[in-house]
Amino acid sequence: MAEPLVELKQHLTEIDDLERALGVLAWDQRTNMPAGGASARSETLATLGGVVHERFTADETGRLLEAVRPLEEQLDHDGDDASLIRVARRDWEKQRRVPKELAEAWLREGSNAHAAWLEAREASRFDLFLPAFRRVHEIALRWAEYMEAGDSPYDAFLDEYEPGMRTSEVKAVFEVLRPALTEIVRSAGEPADDSFLEGDYPVETQKAFLEDVLGHFGFEDGTWRLDPTVHPFAIGIGRGDIRMTTRYRPDNLRALWAAMHEAGHGLTYQGLDPALDRTPLAGGPSLGLGESQSRTWENLVGRSLPFWRGFLPKLQQRFPQLGSVDLETWYRGINRVAPSLIRVNADEVTYSLHIILRFELEQQLVDGTLALEELPEAWNARMTEFLGVDVPDDAHGVLQDVHWTRAAYGYFPTYALGNVLSLQIWQHVRAAIPDLDAQIEAGEFGELYGWLARQLYRHGRKFTPTETLERAIGERTIDPQPYLEYLRGKVAGLAAV
Ligand code: ZN
Repeated sequence: MAEPLVELKQHLTEIDDLERALGVLAWDQRTNMPAGGASARSETLATLGGVVHERFTADETGRLLEAVRPLEEQLDHDGDDASLIRVARRDWEKQRRVPKELAEAWLREGSNAHAAWLEAREASRFDLFLPAFRRVHEIALRWAEYMEAGDSPYDAFLDEYEPGMRTSEVKAVFEVLRPALTEIVRSAGEPADDSFLEGDYPVETQKAFLEDVLGHFGFEDGTWRLDPTVHPFAIGIGRGDIRMTTRYRPDNLRALWAAMHEAGHGLTYQGLDPALDRTPLAGGPSLGLGESQSRTWENLVGRSLPFWRGFLPKLQQRFPQLGSVDLETWYRGINRVAPSLIRVNADEVTYSLHIILRFELEQQLVDGTLALEELPEAWNARMTEFLGVDVPDDAHGVLQDVHWTRAAYGYFPTYALGNVLSLQIWQHVRAAIPDLDAQIEAGEFGELYGWLARQLYRHGRKFTPTETLERAIGERTIDPQPYLEYLRGKVAGLAAV
């Protein structure tokens, strides 16, 4: 291998190692750290984060990237080396655009806004959040000016999470989704009974059940953990060190789906080509594609009839009080469709409506057609329009999510894109594995995981999201129809049960 490439790889691997250290510290902060460690840990994370940023954006990285330019032309575009150079150069150029002071100010004002938000949410008063929100919002707008100009001011934000995607593409998908979803909600009729999900459910027993399920999903022994936390997340420290979390409550069973969601993220880390581990190519091409996989394991597997045909008897063994709940009642309950106030508790049908609402408001905030102080009113009006619910107070409305404390515009739409993509990909899974339902019922996930890993997970960040989608299923555009057909079929099936 040519010398400059060895040097570049060495440099990037060291940075990647530091990022793993950050990952372990962040995981520990959110799972095991005693509360007293909070302020020192924030400082440690900020220091180490600064070191990573400085090392990566340094002139040295640029020099190494320049030195491999002659070599790059001889490399195969799809190969690991060419991809590494391409992706590292794109990251480097993008991060170099932002002045250090601005990046630091964004972090600082973001944590101030987070603190203000906690207080404002507690008091359910948006006005307490507004001054800090305004500061972080203005920094975000300044940041966007340093980014490549897109077709709309929102494009710069979207590009952070969906590289290369345009606001107009998302709009086109959401314009199809919104009326169709509203219609599906209407056709769902009376919400099913799901009261059996509440009750006395000892955490240890839930944990044992979940470890059994995750073991079946395809995780290799000795490569993963599942720990309790407040806001569930998953992190891949490496291919052989996957940390997932869920939020257990002794009085309900909702941790099951949160864990299966995070397991979906975990499986994408495990499915990575081992040759890409410990390089900047480890990870996912976009949040939307990542979310498509967490939704796949949470919903398409974890809320399906075949899955529970196999696993409900096992769950009933562990929780005898569920013995009187038959499969149909269970299935209807866990798929209950009902408009509600809170995004994170929303069902499969209404979830994307919560997202479209945020996407529309964010665009207005970014292009200046909505003033920050008018946000609660605009929020409440849209909740009534989209979901037919009245927002009682700011805590159950505009203050419910953490994302705007960092002015992380462009993040929300990736959740709905994930829903859409999950079905677009799932269609191809079904075609490739004709007896998929029988396999899921039998608790056999090897073929499913194998297909997804081979078609999708193994590429990591090598290609753009569009290229990755094309490699996985031969399609380049996002198509909302399979998602809508799935929801229509599911709701019709629920009504018929
Ligand atoms: Zn997720």
